[in-house]
Amino acid sequence: MDYETAKLRAKELRDRLNYYSRKYYVDDDPVVEDREYDMLQRELLEIETQYPDLVAPDSPTARVGGAADGMFEPVPHPVRMESLQDAFSEEELCDFDRRVRESVPAAQYVVEPKIDGLSVSLEYENGVFVRGSTRGDGDVGEDVTANLRTVRAIPLRLAESVPYIEVRGEVYMPKAAFADLVTAQEETGDKPFKNPRNAAAGSLRQKNPQITASRKLDIFVFNIQRIEGVELHGHRQSLDYLRTLGFRTIPDYVRVDTIEQAIGRIREIGRLRGTLPYDIDGAVLKVDDFDSRTLLGSTAKYPKWAIAFKYPPEEKQTTLIDVEVAVGRTGVLTPTAILDPVLLAGTTVGRATLHNQDFITERDIRIGDTVTVRKAGDIIPEVVKVNAHAPDSVPYLLPQTCPSCGSDVLREADEAAVRCVNPECPAQLLCNLIHFCSRGGMDIEGFGESVLEKLVENGFLHTAADLYRLDAQSIQTIEGFREKSAANLLDAAERSKENGLEKLLAAFGIRHVGEKGAKLLAAHFGTMEAIQAASVEEIAAIDGFGGVMAQSVYDFFALPGTADLIDRLRESGVQMRAVQTVEDQRFAGLTFVLTGTLPTMTRAEASQIIERLGGKAASSVSKKTSYILAGEDAGSKLQKAQTLGVPILTEAEFLRMCEQE
Ligand code: NAD
Repeated sequence: MDYETAKLRAKELRDRLNYYSRKYYVDDDPVVEDREYDMLQRELLEIETQYPDLVAPDSPTARVGGAADGMFEPVPHPVRMESLQDAFSEEELCDFDRRVRESVPAAQYVVEPKIDGLSVSLEYENGVFVRGSTRGDGDVGEDVTANLRTVRAIPLRLAESVPYIEVRGEVYMPKAAFADLVTAQEETGDKPFKNPRNAAAGSLRQKNPQITASRKLDIFVFNIQRIEGVELHGHRQSLDYLRTLGFRTIPDYVRVDTIEQAIGRIREIGRLRGTLPYDIDGAVLKVDDFDSRTLLGSTAKYPKWAIAFKYPPEEKQTTLIDVEVAVGRTGVLTPTAILDPVLLAGTTVGRATLHNQDFITERDIRIGDTVTVRKAGDIIPEVVKVNAHAPDSVPYLLPQTCPSCGSDVLREADEAAVRCVNPECPAQLLCNLIHFCSRGGMDIEGFGESVLEKLVENGFLHTAADLYRLDAQSIQTIEGFREKSAANLLDAAERSKENGLEKLLAAFGIRHVGEKGAKLLAAHFGTMEAIQAASVEEIAAIDGFGGVMAQSVYDFFALPGTADLIDRLRESGVQMRAVQTVEDQRFAGLTFVLTGTLPTMTRAEASQIIERLGGKAASSVSKKTSYILAGEDAGSKLQKAQTLGVPILTEAEFLRMCEQE
């Protein structure tokens, strides 16, 4: 490429990459696949290597991550949170090894999976978690302490009271949690996250810790950035040590002596990739010994002692045998491709989402076609393109009538979705009931899909209100139910009556109103009657509510069946007032056991604080206990906690954990 062409291309690449980076890091809403980004970045790097004077100050090749966008307090990182150099082939790994061995001939490597999440720093003083931040641009990140406190795998207190330690880890969303979240977002009409990385970043980089707590984030810690009071010499040793402190460390790390062994291990991780419960986008190779690392040093962007091998996205060709159409809770018809099964990223894929009619039309997908499939974000299989149409095939159109009830379907002008508008459609009823009983709704244990399906089939359920009118005898007429299992179902339904307005509203599954919207609605109006009487304007006045949400709530309450449903639920004793909302959820997921006499508080007072902050106070110690809060004359519970290695808190330490920042 001549200089002038290179100059123009470099500018174009910089502009595009900077735009993609902003969408990815700041908006958590990537617009291109990672592979495409990586290839463009590589092209820019090659131009800059050939013509060094084309390196611009705003070049993404020289920058780490994305700058903070002012939503959170800035946190400087005294130890820079670096990025990693990439390798896309095994030859590149061998080149890296040669460079390392020029300075460190006997280098040993640690190989570990590269988790596709977002990098955070966690700081502990005297063993207590004091601050957590994002990577940002590597030098300055964002303070997300309150949100990180809700991540259960992050210890709030370490097993040892190290004077100071800063660790680095990758916060991620497990694949199962991501799939559940996307389903819920699709149901409520919220824009779904594109992949688990983007979902993890979006869940952490927003201001409400309750939302973070509800997103089931997890973490793997993979490095010590700074430590006082403990001397460590190598990476593997430091990972072992982090484990003893109570961190969930990067899994399956192994140390090897040669690049051949490292490559073998990287291939193995690649084979396992699709079967892991979390997303990885590569494997990382790191020099183990810290002195050797110092000798090798760093560039402005990454250390010279580590490299990330990126696995290619896996794509396969197969035949699209048929299209199956399901009817969801809101009546939306969703098409799924039935494929000739293929092995893709470690699992057999026989189905792929086709999203909606527009998706099918844009790609001209037809039954019988040879298609390319890929796992988007390595999770949900997707048809990427058609390779060849089947002979005599015709463009595919979604049915004009509902496959469940036969009613006409409708496509609203501004929507991609086609819906069945029959409120009594049995497919919708079942989906509605599943949602009503789910965790995000009334959380009625035992009422899973198959149980509900049987109850509907046998004519016991016509609306959600019927759940509270079931009797043991009728349930027992269904095959597989005995006295005990029927009683368990009835008990669970009975308990759910006290859930309060917020859960009930979420259980209704009003379009565009998820758990968060239901919470706002309940907190604002306080009673069901007040919501039923509210105008669109009054609903729209809720902070955090948009016009579309308000209209949707209003429309739901205006439906002829809604008032009747509410009346019947009320008659059955379902409670419809808002329960006090929990604001600070820093102890979400944590269980405390109290023992002995505390210096200034009663145990009841301490329990109240724990519950107010989203935690649980339990009476007996087990492996699941997060902390034991012990006062004077603590007895057998304390002993048991010591044997099980449960962290022990004094009242003063406990109060420090409760303090407002
Ligand atoms: P990177 O993802 O290539 O590698 C560095 C990161 O890996 C670290 O920040 C760390 O958090 C993480 N990591 C996970 N497991 C690790 C382990 N075991 N050891 C060490 N680090 C580990 O680099 P980057 O600077 O974070 O970002 C570049 C990536 O972001 C590329 O993959 C690129 O494709 C993607 N990106 C995509 C877009 C897009 O639009 N799709 C835009 C910008 C960046």
